[in-house]
Amino acid sequence: MRNLIIQILLLVIPLVGVNAVSAQNVASEQIKRSVVIDPGHGGPRPGKQHRDIVEKDYVLDVSIEVRKQLSRKMPELDVYLTRSCDSAYHESQSTDNRLRAEFCNNKAADLYVGIHANALGDTKVKGCEVWVLTLNEKLMNQNKLVGARYADDGDFINPEDIDRNSQGFMMALSRQLENEPYSRFFAEECCKNMASYGLVNKGVKAGTVYTVLYYSECPGVIVEMGYLTNNDDYNYLYSKGSKQEMATAISDAIVTYFKTLYGSESCEVSEAAEETASTQESVVEDSKAEEINEGYAIQLISSMKEVDINDYQFKEYKGKVRLIMGSGKYKFKYCYGSYKSSADAQEDLNHARKTFKDAYIVKYNNGAIVAK
Ligand SMILES: [Zn+2]
Repeated sequence: MRNLIIQILLLVIPLVGVNAVSAQNVASEQIKRSVVIDPGHGGPRPGKQHRDIVEKDYVLDVSIEVRKQLSRKMPELDVYLTRSCDSAYHESQSTDNRLRAEFCNNKAADLYVGIHANALGDTKVKGCEVWVLTLNEKLMNQNKLVGARYADDGDFINPEDIDRNSQGFMMALSRQLENEPYSRFFAEECCKNMASYGLVNKGVKAGTVYTVLYYSECPGVIVEMGYLTNNDDYNYLYSKGSKQEMATAISDAIVTYFKTLYGSESCEVSEAAEETASTQESVVEDSKAEEINEGYAIQLISSMKEVDINDYQFKEYKGKVRLIMGSGKYKFKYCYGSYKSSADAQEDLNHARKTFKDAYIVKYNNGAIVAK
């Protein structure tokens, strides 16, 4: 993990210089990080509609699931949804998008993630893609030629309508230069994750000026989960479990983004988990652990704050989750099972990891964790 962070920082630092370094320093002061999840459209604007899928409903379900998953994967991260029901910010689509950007700026968010599904007259076009903001003239002009997508749609700004001498443009340009490497890093991660569920990876796109990205002050992306107008993509998105999978892809990319750029103690937890997994075989079995208060358990999650053991995320282990206190920032350890040896716990661990990816085996004694 650490090598990966260094490799990525080496890629990012030459592009953004001191900004990446200062971000690291800021992180050591434990500033609260936040992400805004924006389910596209809503209220009077359904977005794309094809057969039985209405974009505004589909993206809302995925967004709510993203927030749910993040509360488990990264409880220290503040997650804000721009809407959690079928609503809009404004009757004008353009103003609506500006208000979403304003919401993001008011929250001083570190990342904006707009969630959408795509559609096109050409039904052969398929795949997932993630858009970032660039104000490069050549790219903007290329995209203008692609189609008349600016005609009646407040989701985009027509490059011809932008006054290049205005203060607003200067500010947007300077923000874009600073944020684009970060947005791209997230976009690449997100594309890769979505494609792992079988969607064609169309990659990171730039050139179309999304209104919400233009006015947002932080790095941001528009995630397009596939083309509703293509049969393969439609069948996937209509399939049971696709919302959960898309949410997993997006939330995993968010976790990677924050861990990579800012580091966190949960990073160390993951490293410990990997280490434990790789040295599992060398752990000496303690078959003498007969006292009730001593043994091995599977740690499902650890958290900075106390979590209700009946929380929905533990639904599969209802009534079987218990809190064991550990040390460090993430001292609330939510565990399952009681085993005489770590080998005995292995089978259940494999099962637990299907839901709790970072689960691992811990040794406890007298109600406290004594070893990982
Ligand atoms: Zn959309």
